[in-house]
Amino acid sequence: MPKPSVLYVIIPCYNEESVLPVTAPVFLEVIRGMMEKGLISDKSRIMFVNDGSKDRTWEIICDLAKQDSHYIGIAQSRNRGHQNAVLAGLMEAKDRCDITISIDCDGQDDPNAMEEMVMRYHEGYDIVYGVRSRRDSDSFFKRFTAESFYHLLSWMGVEVVFNHADYRLLSNRVLNELQGFREVNIYLRGMIPLIGFRSTEVAYERHERIAGKSHYPLKKMLGLAFDGITSLSIKPIRMIATLGVLVSCLSVVLIIWSVIQFFIGNTVPGWASLCAIVCMIGGIQLISLGVIGEYIGKIYLETKARPRYIISERTQEQETEP
Ligand code: UDP
Ligand code: MG
Repeated sequence: MPKPSVLYVIIPCYNEESVLPVTAPVFLEVIRGMMEKGLISDKSRIMFVNDGSKDRTWEIICDLAKQDSHYIGIAQSRNRGHQNAVLAGLMEAKDRCDITISIDCDGQDDPNAMEEMVMRYHEGYDIVYGVRSRRDSDSFFKRFTAESFYHLLSWMGVEVVFNHADYRLLSNRVLNELQGFREVNIYLRGMIPLIGFRSTEVAYERHERIAGKSHYPLKKMLGLAFDGITSLSIKPIRMIATLGVLVSCLSVVLIIWSVIQFFIGNTVPGWASLCAIVCMIGGIQLISLGVIGEYIGKIYLETKARPRYIISERTQEQETEP
């Protein structure tokens, strides 16, 4: 039997007064079940992160914490968005636990998958991604846009796990490395695969929201998508340079064509030279922008000051200073 580990379940909450009273007991029941089986320690906690809610969410969290010591809560000073709320919870829990599982509070992600995640952790995995087995409960529009987005991201060179949102288990050492990613614009789904370590997936069914409505309307979804691409990839900049090369090639063809037209006598005086100059300048400008962009891209990646290497194993314990 593995040694029971301390698990912190991180739950971001924003204006969830209608949902929390229903889902909180479900989470407690799930972790109680795991405690009874000896999978996790009694010191495990359910940590709610209030993301600057404007309704009674924080009062509800405080009441829950009074009712049962397994519930705890932290509140962000203002609304910072889902990704930041999850990160705040993870960093708060980092030094107090062996594993964290982040999950939404609206009951859409099946809490029963947590047990399987913890079992995978005991098998030696540091990251366990919750992956939706079906997306039937999502509208066609949401499914289509989300799936196209995953394809777009991987085309942009961002490594993402297909159909995985932010329901995942992270071990303590992954959290320690995540702390080294100092960027402000965070997109956890794209950052966690960068950390490495052994990872696996657990499938679960995604349900309808229990109550309330989604905080991710199209505008926010597009915002997250845009953040995901621009925080993790400089491919859009490279595309400018590629376009510049294409336009330049086209301009050469155009120059030849306009010169031919000139000799045939199909043009008014000045047209051929003007046309050639416009095409050439356009191409040169785009290439120049691409080159400048390439340097800006490098500066952008450097400013993130991400760790340059992460060590996963050693044959012997590191010697510490006496
Ligand atoms: N959330 C948050 N801050 C926000 C928006 C959402 O902490 O600014 C939380 C929300 O309470 C929920 C989770 O993030 O627990 C996912 O949000 P939601 O269910 O609205 O998104 P969807 O599942 O529709 O993508
Ligand atoms: Mg939801």
